[in-house]
Amino acid sequence: KPIIQLRHINVDFPHQNNVIHAVKDASLNIDPGDIYGIVGYSGAGKSTLVRVIDRLQKPSSGQVIINGQDVLQFNHRQMRAVRKKIGVIFQHYNLMTSRTILNNVEFPLLDQKLSRKERQQRAHKLLKLVGLDSKSSFYPDQLSGGQKQRVAIARALANQPKILISDEATSALDPRNTQEILHLLKDLSKKFHLTVLLITHEMDAVKAICNKVAFMDAGQIIEHGTLFDVFGKP
Ligand code: ADP
Ligand code: ADP
Repeated sequence: KPIIQLRHINVDFPHQNNVIHAVKDASLNIDPGDIYGIVGYSGAGKSTLVRVIDRLQKPSSGQVIINGQDVLQFNHRQMRAVRKKIGVIFQHYNLMTSRTILNNVEFPLLDQKLSRKERQQRAHKLLKLVGLDSKSSFYPDQLSGGQKQRVAIARALANQPKILISDEATSALDPRNTQEILHLLKDLSKKFHLTVLLITHEMDAVKAICNKVAFMDAGQIIEHGTLFDVFGKP
């Protein structure tokens, strides 16, 4: 049973006297544990489509079903709860530069009823998970791009999400760090049965770790399926 179902999603933006159809009739089923690549050129509608999932931005029409529930019917409190269970990482890491690595990873845990000690223990465990516990007292600017992205991954996992969205997370990294981050995502997906959405314009990233892929162009999903369906024999 899919963890995410998008049904006939349309997203329109008013623009001057016109309307931009950013997403057109997009439907997708994403199963638990999938590493699903969402690929397309800049402006194809990838971020807009995924914003419907991670920020629960209301589409102009269509249905968004997460864990079997129609989230567009949710109230504010219910939406917050869903959102908390979706981790997101970005191209530019979005770390707080004036806080240590440990503080950054602790941050999503602040609104839970945890003692400071429990919180820090959890943050250390998360940093260990991404191989960076030895840097916990460093500041983001003292780390390499690949390391910063690892910190962002640790932070994204703090609330033990079932869904992790990677929005061009390797686009600023060199090839070696890109491979490391991609394989970390794959390992984490396996370990926690995480569903990963990999938004990217890099086909190599998709081929490296995804089991499924959707291609977007001009707001439409023009092709989707398993890597085998789409590319044929490996
Ligand atoms: P991608 O992520 O594939 O690069 P986007 O989803 O960012 O594509 O953009 C799809 C289209 O929607 C583009 O034409 C973009 O200019 C337009 N768009 C995105 N966000 C907005 C917005 N907030 N207001 C108006 N147009 C937007
Ligand atoms: P331990 O058994 O020492 O807790 P694990 O290697 O089993 O360590 O990893 C568990 C850690 O992974 C915990 O710190 C937990 O918070 C974290 N974690 C991150 N994301 C998830 C997730 N989606 N499901 C379960 N644990 C997760």
